[in-house]
Parts: sequence; C-alpha cells; structure tokens
Amino acid sequence: MQNSEQARAWIEVDVQGLCTNFETVRRTVGPDVAIIAMVKADGYGLGAVRVTRALEPLSPWGYGVAAASEGVELREAGVRRPILLTSPLPPQDTERAAGAGLIASISDLASLDRWLSASRTAGALDFHVEVDTGMGRAGFDWRETSQWAPSLLSKLDGGASNARWTGIYTHMHSADAAESAPTRTQWRRFQDALSQLPVSREDLMVHVSNSATALRWPEYAADAVRPGIFLYGGRAADPEYLPPAPEPAPVASVRARVVMVRDVPPGGTVGYGATHVARGWEKWATLAIGYGDGLPRCLGNRGCALLHGRRVPLIGRISMDMAVVDITAVPDTSAGDIATLIGRDGDACITVDEVAQLAGTISYEILTGFTARLPRLEQDTNDKY
Ligand SMILES: *Cc1c(COP(=O)(O)O)cnc(C)c1O
Repeated sequence: MQNSEQARAWIEVDVQGLCTNFETVRRTVGPDVAIIAMVKADGYGLGAVRVTRALEPLSPWGYGVAAASEGVELREAGVRRPILLTSPLPPQDTERAAGAGLIASISDLASLDRWLSASRTAGALDFHVEVDTGMGRAGFDWRETSQWAPSLLSKLDGGASNARWTGIYTHMHSADAAESAPTRTQWRRFQDALSQLPVSREDLMVHVSNSATALRWPEYAADAVRPGIFLYGGRAADPEYLPPAPEPAPVASVRARVVMVRDVPPGGTVGYGATHVARGWEKWATLAIGYGDGLPRCLGNRGCALLHGRRVPLIGRISMDMAVVDITAVPDTSAGDIATLIGRDGDACITVDEVAQLAGTISYEILTGFTARLPRLEQDTNDKY
C-alpha cells in the first residue's frame, strides 16, 4: 500500500474514531438494538472493506450497501454478516445480488417476482420490504398497505418459497431539519402500515433510523438502526436540534504536500481568471491537490488549509491538480511540508462539516467526492498527526 511518503495528497482514515462513533450510536440506542452500519459508496468514500474490518470486533448486526457490486466486494473480502441492499436493484443485478447472498430491499411486486425466481436457483434468500412514508424514491406506498401486503404474502406461497420476508423499514427525509413534525408524521405513517400487515410484526426486523433519527429519536430505534454519516465523522444534524449534541469523532483527514513556495510582489496574480491579486508582498505556497482530487472548486478564495497548526486562506481559483494558499502569516513553510484540508493539525482543525457548509453542500457529498487519485491510508497513531 502506498504511504504518505509517496503520495502528493492522501486521505487518512482514523478507524479508532470510526469505532468511537459506532459506540456513541450504540450507547444512544441501547445494547438491544441491532446496528446496520451503512457502508455504501465505498464506506462514504473511506473504503468499505477497511470500514467493515474495523467494525467487525464491535459486532454490528450487518452492513448496508446500495449496489450489488458493493455487496459482492464485501463478500469477496470475507464479510459473513448480513448485507442489506437499501436501494432497489436494477433487474439486471438480481442474479449477482442473489449469488452473493445479499438481502434485497423489495419496493414493488415485480422486484419480488425477480427475487423469488433468483431464489429458485440461488437457494434461500432474505428480503426486507421498504415502505415509502414520504421519501418518494423507493418503497411500497404506506397508504396502500392493505393492497400490496396481502399480494406480497400470497407470492410467498405460504412459506414454501425459497425467499424469506425478514424485515421491514422506512427512511426519514427530514430527521436533520429544525422542524420535527415531518419525522413524527413519517413515524405515524409507518406505524399505520405496520398495523395493517398480514404477518406478525414480531417475525420481522423493523427499522427506520439513519444517523440523525438514531441520535435524535432513540425512541424510534425499533429493532435496528442504519447509521451512516455519523460513523464517518459527519454531524448527524445541527447540534442545536440534537440536545445534548453528540459530536462525532473526526475520521477523515485530507492532506496534501506543499510543492512550491514563493515570495510574490504586489500585483502578482494567481490561478485561472487571476481572481486574487497580491496587495503587498505576499508569500504563497502551492499545494498538490485540486478539484481533480475532489477538493471542491468553489473553495477558491473562500476555504482554508492548515499549515504548521495555523489557518491559511486558499487564494485564487482551485485548479484541477493544484491549489494555492497565502502563507504570509506562516513563512516557515517549505516544499515537502504537509497541508491539511480537512482534519486536525496541532490545535487547529477543519471539520468536514465546515468544508461542506462553505461549499454549499453536505458532508456526504464532500466525503464521497474525493477521487481515486487520493490513496486512503489507515491513520498511523504514531504519526505526528
Ligand atoms: C444512506 C442511508 C442511511 C444512512 O443515512 P445517514 O444519514 O448517512 O446516517 C440509512 N438508510 C438508508 C436507506 C440509506 O439510504
């Protein structure tokens, strides 16, 4: 594996922080609630295999992925726990998901037919039913439970089929918002659907909670929770809405080498469009990271980096491969030094949420946006950082 000596820029993954965040979720929901750790999108960009290896000793119930290929990757890495697909499968992926023994999410009767037919060759297959209570992207309509639920059950052939209905869930759309009414409404709709099921609720694993719901409404935890972003060091919601706010331990640090340092005379310009002009003599450092690595381009002239424990502003537009910081206040910088775009350096820290807010997006998009160009390195606790 590449180490930070060889990389121009990289992401350090603090698996200890990840485990701390997992334990925070467990403490909040209690020891009897199963945890389905969401590792979709390659573990929110940090490496799904690495994440599952780190969490294994903490005994999550299973893992959540979005694509059959993601589940196959985990199986090939030796993951034996249940793996739940939380997106509907494209029909073409049914066989692959079945072959890996994944748990499908069934959102309509046609996809159940495909799962049943796959189970005739693949052997026993489990599925969870998704109920749409307002997210509007997947799931059976909560208002029509009395229609789809009996049809679904009749397809299972009185238990003679190879496919077993083992869970039911919904997904909250506004658990991170100031207003709590939408979440309460979705909870009520889900309860309404559950009450109309032609099977005993006791026979199904019932789950609703993403990170924000798990931390803010532990009373909605039911049988299992599905935390994602909080495990990876992203805030589940604004701490104002989450009293007492559990802050996630940081997990991802994004670092880049300084590749050039220069004294710039007044009038010097930097980057495409020359959007920053030196007012007086300034000292600039070029960092080996750009939007081609996933550093949001809109951070140019807005964002910061850390150098030697100090904040320095990103000046000019960010290029595909490089970004420039004004280090006039930190002149003891030289080529080869390490800049921090996300994470801690000494007493200073830039959180993924801070970057997301500056970039006008969410921490999820920042984390999953870092490209394959950046090697993901497991943080060496003996490291200076
Ligand atoms: C992504 C996802 C989650 C995790 O959500 P976070 O906000 O990252 O905690 C949970 N459930 C489903 C269905 C998801 O798609």
